[in-house]
Amino acid sequence: MPIDVGPVYEGERIRGNQMYVELGGPKIEKKFELVRVSKNVTDGKVTINGPDLKDMEKGSTHPIGIFVEVFGKILEEDLEAVFERRIHEFCNFINGVMHLNQRYTNWMRVSIQAFEKGLNSFQMIGTILIRLFKAELPIIEKAQVTFYTDTKSIEKPHKMAMEVYNARDERARGLHDEDVDMFYGCVLCQSFAPTHACCITPDRTSLCGSINWFDARAAAKVDPKGPIFEVVPGECYDVFAGHYQGINDMMKKRSLGEIEKVYLFSGMEFPHTSCGCFEAIDFYIPELGGHGIIDRSHDGPAINGLPFSAMANQTGGGKQMPGFNGISIQYIASPKYQQYDGGIKNIVWMGKALKDRVAEFLPADLVDKIATEEDVNDINALQAWLEEKKHPIIETDAYKIAVGGGEEEEEEYETAGAMVPMGTQTFTVGGAGGLGGFKVILKNCKIHAESVIIKKLDGKRKK
Ligand code: SF4
Repeated sequence: MPIDVGPVYEGERIRGNQMYVELGGPKIEKKFELVRVSKNVTDGKVTINGPDLKDMEKGSTHPIGIFVEVFGKILEEDLEAVFERRIHEFCNFINGVMHLNQRYTNWMRVSIQAFEKGLNSFQMIGTILIRLFKAELPIIEKAQVTFYTDTKSIEKPHKMAMEVYNARDERARGLHDEDVDMFYGCVLCQSFAPTHACCITPDRTSLCGSINWFDARAAAKVDPKGPIFEVVPGECYDVFAGHYQGINDMMKKRSLGEIEKVYLFSGMEFPHTSCGCFEAIDFYIPELGGHGIIDRSHDGPAINGLPFSAMANQTGGGKQMPGFNGISIQYIASPKYQQYDGGIKNIVWMGKALKDRVAEFLPADLVDKIATEEDVNDINALQAWLEEKKHPIIETDAYKIAVGGGEEEEEEYETAGAMVPMGTQTFTVGGAGGLGGFKVILKNCKIHAESVIIKKLDGKRKK
């Protein structure tokens, strides 16, 4: 191989100006990665449908389908999702390849440097995947990989992959926490977020959406010392919050003491940590005391003015971030969805495509009351919408306090502020000493504040 391969390259970032090509990601509608157990596997075979890396123009973006078929005498279907998640890890082992996300949201970049060193064919990436699958998971005896890199060839396998994901999710929806006596943990994403561990229970699927309780059970059975392991729930302090001693212990150990307490079903109190692979974000809307959900493929800002990418900065990194919680789409269908915060009835806004996708799992009397970007564009319009539609949140104390204000508060704050996106900010503070003010540039810094109040200066206003 012309490039190095190893865990040391996990976490490598390839920025837009360093990339030779981009594969999948938000600009591409159909992309997927799938692993299936099969008896018909030709060990070591790599097939490319569509243009190969060397045929792609520098700076271009293409569809990507990665279909891995594996064989082993003791392999079972339950292991497919767990093997599939390793595609993320193994691709990131390749120096000059960056892989993000999973299932039908996969996103890869190959760097200019790697291409110039000779990484110019999917044949090499496929061979690396096959060798790593067999070396890291010795129960796999044979493996073959097929790539799809154009819109025509990916059509059929993409449809098949979506059917497989749906079947896995449907099976998992029938099982609940009270039906089992074992939970699972996963630390596969610690190379990106060292204090993050996923708690996987029947009612709280992993936030990447790719490992449900059945998958985790199968993985822990074949490799009990691996990255997916058993978590004895232990004493339950609050079943409604999803607060278990066993989960606290696991989190404390795996986060090296950073996180001591997790409520599985809350995004506001001791929330589950988020790495960077979450399928969607449950975010608090302080102006209304409710929550919104934006998913990774949402184009444009959410109702709070922030796009997914800006909120993802705030959410990820393995910290507990009350108000920004990484979730799987499957979790939205859980009857325990963020129940400690008020549950699904607290959701007042969702991206349209996401709402359409999960509509059948939402309470029938709530579906038409949750607004999308097609219904409202700002918080004031959303408030009017909720009241017109008689959304159940308008009866809650949280809503009344959030919108009610009260005389004292109205005098103090003249107008409601909008949230400012995270990231690199540049702004000018006028009149703060010297002529013309001064510029403050905050680079790559994250600021956490309980609240930010932006007041318009009014000369006539009484201080
Ligand atoms: S998001 Fe969680 S379950 Fe999914 S791979 Fe990462 S740590 Fe594992």
